Formats: sequence, structure tokens, C-alpha cells
Amino acid sequence: MSVNYYTEDEFWALEKPTIPERSQLFPLEPIGVGTLYVESLSGYIARLADCHTITTGELVLSKVIPLMRHKRSSVSSINIINHLFRDQDFFTSTNEKRIDIATTLIQALKELTWRQDLSCLWPLKWASIFFEFSILRLHQAWCPVCYDHWFVNNRVIYNPLLWLVNTIEECPEHDHQPLIEECPHCHEKFPPLSRYSRPGYCSICHLWLGSQKLNQLANEQTHSVDFWRQLLITPMHSHQSNKLVWQCMWFDDVDDLAANTPSDFLPPINEN
Ligand SMILES: [Zn+2]
Ligand SMILES: [Zn+2]
Repeated sequence: MSVNYYTEDEFWALEKPTIPERSQLFPLEPIGVGTLYVESLSGYIARLADCHTITTGELVLSKVIPLMRHKRSSVSSINIINHLFRDQDFFTSTNEKRIDIATTLIQALKELTWRQDLSCLWPLKWASIFFEFSILRLHQAWCPVCYDHWFVNNRVIYNPLLWLVNTIEECPEHDHQPLIEECPHCHEKFPPLSRYSRPGYCSICHLWLGSQKLNQLANEQTHSVDFWRQLLITPMHSHQSNKLVWQCMWFDDVDDLAANTPSDFLPPINEN
């Protein structure tokens, strides 16, 4: 019986195949770009970490900070860590330094993910940042009804930037639902970016934050008076979108963002 040896077959070619270059991190698409529901930068970093099944702290320490250090060797790693996680340095820092670190963070993330649209996660007017970041909350805030709604509809759970703007006290999607800053389980507050950040979950006790009833119980007393006053003074047909545009006045190109925001905005389907 004759045996065929495929000596001429391309199978035996020893040339190295060309492997296309890839980004170091998964090029995760940010949510709501170009709309008022654009994702927050901190929330994006937490989702990116989740994609790689590591904690936000691990991602920041192993990938983001080394690259930021490479770009700004004059700033120490500890200094960057304290800024990102809002530890003591953040509060005593100058605005120029905060802007420098925020800009370097975006540059580093762009380089790691090869996504050029990440600048859109910081659509705040540059002038506003000079007010000591005072338009942004120090703690993460959320709407438990939105979290529940997205979960039930199998949507990606994410943190919109507007939840962090401190002029916005109620969810623009759910009338009279205050944005919550205190976990209904452990009663702690936590910064927008921390070592265990994960959208939809408490960074301290790691429990789900979308339980509307629990959150309502926690806030019933403090908000009941405001709720009824609001009902009395708010006209029945007040234009919600105009109110939102006014509340988002710190966003760059707020009119364009509002025009691009569908009234029934939902995050993308969760494919995991
Ligand atoms: Zn909501
Ligand atoms: Zn908690």
C-alpha cells in the first residue's frame, strides 16, 4: 500500500503566521455615547474589569496605573491611586493636578482598549471642572428602579454620568424617585470608583442595589415631605426633558446630547 507524504503541502510551511495586533484590554463599547445617558468614566472602568473577571482594583493597579506612570513619571503611583479612589490626596490636590490625572487616565484607557470614543465619557465643560469638581458627587448615586428595570429586561447594568451630577437629585426616568447614595443593606456610602466597584452592587457589602422596596424604606422618611411638596408644585404636564437639560447644564453640547437621547432609552442587551 502506498503512503502519501504531503511534503509539499502548505501545512509544512514554517513561516510564522501574521497575528493581527490586539489591544491589551477588551475594546468594551461605552454606553449612551452622544446622549444624556452617557456612561460615567468610573462606571466604565468597573465594567471593563468585570469583562476581564477581575476586580476594579486589580485592573487599575495592574494595567491602568503603570501606563499612567509611564506617561506622567513625575506623579507617584500612590498619588494616582489616591486620586482615582478619592483618598486623602484628592481633597488637598489642586484643580490643575486633578485635570491632569483625569486626562492621563483617559489617554491610558484609550491606549489599553484602542477605543477613541472614551473622551465622550467626560463631556463636562472644562470650565466646570475648575469649580473643584464641585458639580460631581463624592459618592456613587443610583436609581434602584432603573437597576431593576434593566435587570428584568436583560440589559447591561451601568452607571450613567448624570447620576453623579449633584444638581440632579431625582431619576430623570422615574418621577420622584430620589437618587440613592446609601446602601440599603450596610448603610454605607462609597466613592464612584473603588477597589470593588461594580455597577448595580454595593462596593462595601457587594449586595444588589436595585431592590426598589428596600431603597424606598431607607429613604421614606427623609423624602416623604419633599415628595408631596413636589407633587403639589409640579405642573402635571411639566416638560421633563427641558428640566433634564437644565439640570445637565454642565454637560458640553447639552442641546445636542438631549436631541440624540431617545425618550425610551435603554442600555444594550446583556449578552453574557
Ligand atoms: Zn430610574
Ligand atoms: Zn452595602
